[in-house]
Formats: sequence, structure tokens, C-alpha cells
Amino acid sequence: MALAVTSSSTAISGSSFSRSGPSSDPKALQICSFRLSELSHVSQRRYSLKSLKAESHTRNDSLVTRASTLITPEVEEKEEDVEDFEQLAKKLEEASPLEIMDKALQKFRSNIAIAFSGAEDVALIEYARLTGRPFRVFSLDTGRLNPETYRLFDAVEKQYGIRIEYTFPDAVEVQALVRNKGLFSFYEDGHQECCRVRKVRPLRRALKGLKAWITGQRKDQSPGTRSEIPIVQVDPVFEGLDGGVGSLVKWNPLANVEGGDVWNFLRTMDVPVNALHAQGYVSIGCEPCTRPVLPGQHEREGRWWWEDAKAKECGLHKGNIKKEDDTTADLAPAIVHDIFESNNVVALSRGGIENLLKLGNRKEPWLVVLYAPWCPFCQAMEASYVELAEKLAVKGVKVAKFRADGDQKEFAKQELQLGSFPTILLFPKSAPRAIKYPSEHRDVDSLMSFVNLLR
Ligand code: SF4
Repeated sequence: MALAVTSSSTAISGSSFSRSGPSSDPKALQICSFRLSELSHVSQRRYSLKSLKAESHTRNDSLVTRASTLITPEVEEKEEDVEDFEQLAKKLEEASPLEIMDKALQKFRSNIAIAFSGAEDVALIEYARLTGRPFRVFSLDTGRLNPETYRLFDAVEKQYGIRIEYTFPDAVEVQALVRNKGLFSFYEDGHQECCRVRKVRPLRRALKGLKAWITGQRKDQSPGTRSEIPIVQVDPVFEGLDGGVGSLVKWNPLANVEGGDVWNFLRTMDVPVNALHAQGYVSIGCEPCTRPVLPGQHEREGRWWWEDAKAKECGLHKGNIKKEDDTTADLAPAIVHDIFESNNVVALSRGGIENLLKLGNRKEPWLVVLYAPWCPFCQAMEASYVELAEKLAVKGVKVAKFRADGDQKEFAKQELQLGSFPTILLFPKSAPRAIKYPSEHRDVDSLMSFVNLLR
């Protein structure tokens, strides 16, 4: 028998979350109650009596308490409907974020929560408010966030009358990591280990209390890793409340929205935003791993900038990353054209670049870009590199390219300082070692100064 329960406790059975939602007075902080019978959206169980001091779960006035006892008719037991989320994703492909949010909240009610990072995904909270349905918000406090992000959390709680449900990393795990490797080990050996401790495991714990979650992922955020995000999917990585593969559903209401439109929405609706955005930050994560980007730079260039573009997922959305083979299969030669095509840019073979490496004294300095033609960051610098090659041709500096993906990648990593694409190397006339261009400012003037100062 399903029992309707009213509770002023914030604890949800089997979950570490508290529940919050908007009321007719959005500023009012809510402690809400809910029926256990509503926790399952897919099944209806047989019951005949509800002892109630309960609430109805309708929009806006959803939390009004009724002191009454209702006798409800017996309901035929039904088989669980297995939702086809692939079909649903197709159906919702043209839907607005508001429609998608409404659908998600309506389907999963108290078993769904918005993942809020403290960046422009605050738009999700505004959309949830606009649906008029109760909603929950959770966030991962990694312990390494910017002060501005904590301020935004506070502003959001006040504006929407909610409590954000924070999840923290395991103190023992953080202690072990920091004692062994120091506070900034991610700059040395990659961000995965720290992200696993501070983000992924806490997230896994949080999601185990839910049946669905809502993220602010967009296709345009990372051409390398987010280009195929569906509106809704069975989460390919994490488990939900019921445990096992397929027990969690992931909603991405902003998947098809462009960054500029999210910003227009935030401005129009007067939503509080992170003060870091005014300082040039777009994508915001932990303080040591986030930096502002310049106009024209892709927003993900501000995250883990010292790493390969395809590794730029912290593990929270690992399911986005396709295997190398899959990616290659997608990039048929007919689609991916070579880049840096110019008479002034020499295409180096493996033997050619090995010779350059061996020479201690060269006849002339060489500037070489290590690239992959499918890499959007390489494509973005193509025009400036070709223009630079033209200018350097009259100055006696050779300009070249070396395709360093696929079979050449390991060699390029070992011998040519390849970190991410593109990597630019200057082989000066007399210095034996190549000098790596250290900046992401790949405009003609910046590159020209680098060459002039070191050739
Ligand atoms: Fe650690 Fe950086 Fe990942 Fe934050 S983003 S968890 S500081 S590696």
C-alpha cells in the first residue's frame, strides 16, 4: 500500500538531498513535503486508503497542506512503462528549453534535480522557476571554487527562495591526494585524478539519490566532446536511485541553444550571474583550472588549458567522449580537408622533422605547427598562420606544418613537446632544442614577436 506522508523533515528516503521549490512568494524559503506514492513516475501500485495530512502536487500551489482523509479507488496494477528516451529526445529536438524543463520536472518530480555549477547554467534555475513546478538544485563544492562562485550560490538561494543541496568530496580522499602530491598536482599529471576525488565521486554519490538530473551542457560548448549531446538520454555513465545501468536519466534542455542566446535570456530575465563573467570568464569551474578567454577564443580554452582539447571533460560528462576510433570513423577524408595549405608553408614528413630535431646549427630558423586538421583550434588559427608564413618568407624564416595526430601522436608527445593541438615550435638557427610557443594568443603579431625575439 502506498502511503501518503507529510513531513517537515528535509530528508528524502534513501537520499541525502533536501527538497526545495518555488512558492507563490518566490523569496520565501520552502521546506516541502511530498507523497511517497509520487516518487515513482512510471508505476502505479495497488492501494485503497491514503491516510493523509498531505498536499497536492500541482503547479504553484503545490505545497498547500490539507488536513483530511481521502479514500481513493483501487487502481489496477500496471506493468512499468519502459520509456524510450531516444524517441523522446527526437520528439523534443525542436522543443524550447522551457518545454523540455517542464517535461523533465513533470515526469520525475521530486526524483530529479538541476546540477548547478555556478556559471551560466543558472539559466536552468530560471527555466525551472518559469514552469511553476517545484524543483531541486544541487551543486558540487570541490573546495577549490572562486569566491565569486560562492557569492553567486548565495544570491541564487535568495532570489529563488531555495536551498542548494551541496555535495562535498570525501575528506580522507582529499587529504591523501594533497599530502601525496601537493595542491596543484593536476598541472603536472593531468586533472583527472583531482577531478575524480573532488567532483566525480561526490557526483556519483549525489546521483545515487535521484532518478534523473538536469545539466546545462550545450553542443556548442566543446566541438571535441559535446557536439552530439541529446536533449534527454539514459545516463551512459552514472547510476541512479534504483541502481544498475539505465537507472538514471540525464536531461540537457540547453543542448541546442547557443551560448549567445543563453546570455540574452539571462540578461532579459535579470537573472543573477557570476561576477567572473565580467572579467572575461565564460566557462567556470574550479579556480586553479579556469581562466578568462579572449574575444574569439573558444570558451573551453579557458578550462584545463594545459591539456589536449579532447581531454577537457572532468568526468562528470564522460559519456560525451567518443573513442578515438569512433571519432576517426566520423571524420571521413572527404569531409576533413587538410589545413595550412599555402606555398609558404612546408609540409614536413616524419623524416623531415626528425632531421630538424637533429640539427644543432640550422641554415635558417624554422617555425613549425603540430596540428590535426579536424581540430577546431587548429582551424581557427589557419588564416593567421598562413599570413604569418607570407610575412616570414621575406625574412628568411621557414614556416612548416607537421600533422601530429594518429600514428604520429606518440612520437610528437615524446619528442616534440606536444600537449594539445595546435602546438607551435620554433627551431632557432643555433639553439639545439626547439622552443615551444607558450601562449594561446595565436594572432599574427604575437607569433611574429615570438619569432623575432628568439630566432
Ligand atoms: Fe581539481 Fe581542477 Fe578538477 Fe577542480 S577542476 S577538481 S581543482 S583538477
